Amino acid sequence: MAIRQIREIGDEILTKKCKDVPKMTLRTKILIGDMLETMYDKNGVGLAAPQVGVLKRIVVIDVGEGPIVLINPEIIETSGEQTGEEGCLSVPGKWGYVTRPDHVKVRALNQEMEPVEMEGEGLLARAFCHEIDHLSGQLYVDKTEDGLHDVTYEDPEDDLEETEEQ
Ligand code: ZN
Repeated sequence: MAIRQIREIGDEILTKKCKDVPKMTLRTKILIGDMLETMYDKNGVGLAAPQVGVLKRIVVIDVGEGPIVLINPEIIETSGEQTGEEGCLSVPGKWGYVTRPDHVKVRALNQEMEPVEMEGEGLLARAFCHEIDHLSGQLYVDKTEDGLHDVTYEDPEDDLEETEEQ
């Protein structure tokens, strides 16, 4: 596995639509392993394939409950609403308030290309929406309530909650 370079806002690849993954290949397995390693290396809670320059419909997520890999994911149900801080590994040093559904159900394929359904609330629901948006070329920066704010790096002793980057 290897850590891949993260594409940043302004890179055209982040605005493009991704293609469905038709079958699992060694190349795709390696990509998924690299995406997980890259996400953990950057302390992110999610990463979508276009963020490492690959226009495939693959996302990885870990909100602290273990890794989730979703291939060709679709949101099939949403309910509720949450407004909270959102960040993105492709938009370093920034965060913004984004309103998302509080409960999200997704249908996808797992790494064995078997159909799975998953439900998420709170941060996981937000991560599903944020990452799946990446697959259609959308960034959270276009959905913020009042634009982007600079991340201020506090003394770690202060024990302030950091914005989760996805
Ligand atoms: Zn992102």
